[in-house]
Amino acid sequence: MADFFHSVRLDRDKCRGCTNCIKRCPTGAIRVRGGKAHIIKERCIDCGECINVCPHHAKYAEQESLEIINNFKYKIALPAPSLYGQFNNLDDVDYVLTALKKIGFDDVFEVSKGAELVSDATRKLFEQGQIKTPAISSACPAIVRLIRVNFPNLIDHVVPLNSPMEIAAKLAREKAKEETGLDDKDIGVFFITPCPAKMTAIKSPVCLNGSQVNGAFAIKEIYPALLSHMNHLESVDSMQDSGIIGVSWASSGGEANALLRDNCLAADGIENVIKILNEIEDEKLENIDFIELNACTGGCVGGSLTYENPYVAKARMKRLRKYLPVSCTHLENKEVPDDMYWTKSLVATDVMKLADSVPEAMKKMAERQAILKRLPGLDCGTCGAPSCAALADDIVRGFATETDCVFRLRDQLSGTDQEFIPAPYRSEK
Ligand code: SF4
Ligand code: SF4
Repeated sequence: MADFFHSVRLDRDKCRGCTNCIKRCPTGAIRVRGGKAHIIKERCIDCGECINVCPHHAKYAEQESLEIINNFKYKIALPAPSLYGQFNNLDDVDYVLTALKKIGFDDVFEVSKGAELVSDATRKLFEQGQIKTPAISSACPAIVRLIRVNFPNLIDHVVPLNSPMEIAAKLAREKAKEETGLDDKDIGVFFITPCPAKMTAIKSPVCLNGSQVNGAFAIKEIYPALLSHMNHLESVDSMQDSGIIGVSWASSGGEANALLRDNCLAADGIENVIKILNEIEDEKLENIDFIELNACTGGCVGGSLTYENPYVAKARMKRLRKYLPVSCTHLENKEVPDDMYWTKSLVATDVMKLADSVPEAMKKMAERQAILKRLPGLDCGTCGAPSCAALADDIVRGFATETDCVFRLRDQLSGTDQEFIPAPYRSEK
């Protein structure tokens, strides 16, 4: 069940059952039943789309309180590169890193440093011909989950490397142990995150036996305190240790550009991503080497837990790049170190399966088709499912009835529905 931990939650008291969220969910994971939204946890990929679209703020990402850092003797902050895009006129990331120490962390380790190592490792995999093309980035956890749920045929294309966050966390721990002599259990590592999917990846890592990260704080929660400290710093520590290659991962295209290859593409926003994944399945992108996909618009700067508008943040990241070196971190050896690879394979989730046996599944599929023919095909969402096909699916699975559809209910009540009229009285078609 650990696979189904989710950070995206519903506040039932705030939900008005308006159905705005059901159509925007990319995996059809939301139903409105009894006037309230429900998330089908097996299908949710924690993309945060429903947080963005709910007009009543009924969807939220569960997160820790900053106090939990005090459970550890030594606390390390891992800022996501997108954090830097939240601040106006930033020309030196050391202001941000120093302010993080002021809010209670003993050390700060940039995730962009981990990103530079992943870029280097991916380049090596290409040089050594160890990658299946088109290779799909594994950096966005919502995309990795989307592939497991809706595109299982593409699992072999996903680059099997740990995320920059995990790699940075491992390095930060090693550095802390060396400098302080403390044990792992006394060191707390906390990610400053732009999105709920990263929170989920920490609590329930898909391709790792356990995360090196102890928790995460949303950028927008930590932003006010950080800005206040940045405005009152008397001195700034010199900590910045990554360059354009790593920091550019914050915006869509940054990871792809860092590979220094011609045949790469980047897509952002969940609808665009789904189009690209369909094209890969249809073998239309065979000539592409690498595909960077981000669930959020603009890349991580568009995450639902950021403070700033993604377009503004993207422009700020572009400006910041002028003040950075190209890169600060490289792998030491020709081979990609073993500890950069996943420790578990990516496996498909079978949430779409109708039954365990093939004959039973075929029978249910036929039932589903018959029900679908009787539904109006308007995909209006008033039944609480995102489409008529989704309602037919729910009926076959026993989670809904045909009269959840207002048109079928009207037919039944008005007596025009042939199904509900005794056979001798049914009119000829
Ligand atoms: S958008 Fe979804 S979660 Fe928000 S109030 Fe409407 S039904 Fe409830
Ligand atoms: S987080 Fe994304 S996948 Fe999960 S219920 Fe919301 S919109 Fe659907």
